[in-house]
Amino acid sequence: MSGHTLIVGGGVSGLSVALVLLQRGHQVTVLERGHTGGESSWAGGGILSPLLPWDYGASVSALALRSMAAYGEWITAIEAVSQLDTEFWRCGLLAMAVTVPEQALTWCTQQGMVATREVPVSLCLSTVAGEALPLWLPEVAQVRNPRLVAALRAAVTKLGGTIHENCTVKGLDAAGGVATTLQTTAGTLTADMIVIATGAWSGLSLTNLPAVPHVRPIRGQMLLFKLEPGVLDTILYRQGLYLIPRRDGHILVGSTLEDAGFDKSTDAVTLARLHREATELLPVLAGVQPIRHWAGLRPGSPDNIPIIDRHPDFDNVFINVGHYRYGVTLAPASAELLVDLMEGRTPALDPAPYRWAAALQRRWGDTL
Ligand SMILES: Cc1cc2nc3c(=O)[nH]c(=O)nc-3n(C[C@H](O)[C@H](O)[C@H](O)COP(=O)(O)OP(=O)(O)OC[C@H]3O[C@@H](n4cnc5c(N)ncnc54)[C@H](O)[C@@H]3O)c2cc1C
Repeated sequence: MSGHTLIVGGGVSGLSVALVLLQRGHQVTVLERGHTGGESSWAGGGILSPLLPWDYGASVSALALRSMAAYGEWITAIEAVSQLDTEFWRCGLLAMAVTVPEQALTWCTQQGMVATREVPVSLCLSTVAGEALPLWLPEVAQVRNPRLVAALRAAVTKLGGTIHENCTVKGLDAAGGVATTLQTTAGTLTADMIVIATGAWSGLSLTNLPAVPHVRPIRGQMLLFKLEPGVLDTILYRQGLYLIPRRDGHILVGSTLEDAGFDKSTDAVTLARLHREATELLPVLAGVQPIRHWAGLRPGSPDNIPIIDRHPDFDNVFINVGHYRYGVTLAPASAELLVDLMEGRTPALDPAPYRWAAALQRRWGDTL
């Protein structure tokens, strides 16, 4: 592979591919319809693990575990180039009401993930102490995702990449199975290679570019509180609800899984429910109102399996989409895999589960 790559979509999926390409000596331009990282990559929580990792299939685990092992070094490299702090923090995750904790522990042991039923005394907050079946995952990390995206953006620019914001890609032109130009609101752009990283919008077709199979937006609402630093020092999870502390005392509470199309609105009923459930885990929140409430659109995919592959119709178009609930977690290994495929290298992971053809075979089930 040589020449210039145009990356469509400036979320964590597009920027992380841009970073690897630049690190390997390629030329890159990122085209972003709005602001870099302004969609799902901004809206999420930044937990760097599947929430209950033993609940996922082998292909999600393979990508997640490879990413999680690489994350510390990945962040160090991004921070060194960008000179920005991403607030990467190995704060651990305390999972409560785990239905089959022995099976979960066995899975963790097999995968080399540290897990224990011994909860450190320092985490025995009053309500948590009485919780049934807790599992402590001390090595789970988090990153402050808006800061990660800002650092990725800066790193891409400092390494010589170009980022065009407010630039919408409308479609492409091709000849003989090779894409020749992208049609954009900033005019016609030529490229040797194209990467599609358009998140939830990759499930919509563009001119001459078919939609990625079965990707659709899944809305998630989040609340943000501000307490004194140190009130909570680990991620708490119980039955779909999580609390994520930031070092400065902010606490994120999420989230919902809603099939609401491209509607990013929020509602008062959900706010009240998230607040009530969060208060059950951290009673001090009872007397505090959230300072912000927002929704983001995850790039949903059946079984949470992303599509990381060459496009079936074009030799020089590649896809990195559909990371659903874990796109921040999966970013390093996904970008590495895609660029290995672009360069014709043998990837470290078996690419078969992430192929377009494999995605065609999957279907959405009854649960999101
Ligand atoms: C509430 C919530 C909580 C989450 N929590 C976590 C978590 O704790 N941990 C975790 O790992 N993940 C989490 N996620 C998921 C994670 O945020 C996503 O999987 C990830 O951000 C997807 O990144 P992306 O780059 O693929 O998509 P996006 O960030 O959505 O980026 C896609 C970009 O493409 C641009 N675009 C689309 N179409 C075009 C076009 N035609 N031309 C130009 N640009 C275009 C969009 O403007 C957008 O900026 C959460 C998500 C949400 C919503």
